[in-house]
Amino acid sequence: MQFQITCKHCGKPFGIEAQQGQTVRCNCPFCGQSAVVATPMAEVSERQDAPLDVRRQPAVQSARPDGWSLGRKVTVVFIVVLFSLIALSAFLYIIFSAMSN
Ligand SMILES: [Zn+2]
Repeated sequence: MQFQITCKHCGKPFGIEAQQGQTVRCNCPFCGQSAVVATPMAEVSERQDAPLDVRRQPAVQSARPDGWSLGRKVTVVFIVVLFSLIALSAFLYIIFSAMSN
């Protein structure tokens, strides 16, 4: 079966001859770089729709803690940047006040 592949190195599309569900190592005809391609299985592609729906529900549930931890990270980074800016401005104020004296 013919599969259409886009080269990861040069981004050009080319075709390979492979069995379905096979992992094929091939060389790009444009740039010569070797690429490992996992060809999709026709029967599994229908089954993959069902696990995708199952995966969506935990993904939404796990998105809440992820989003929360991301918000905490952003808050922590913001506080660190804010305090470093305050420390920097205080440091510069001390230096400039010492220089003007
Ligand atoms: Zn290429």
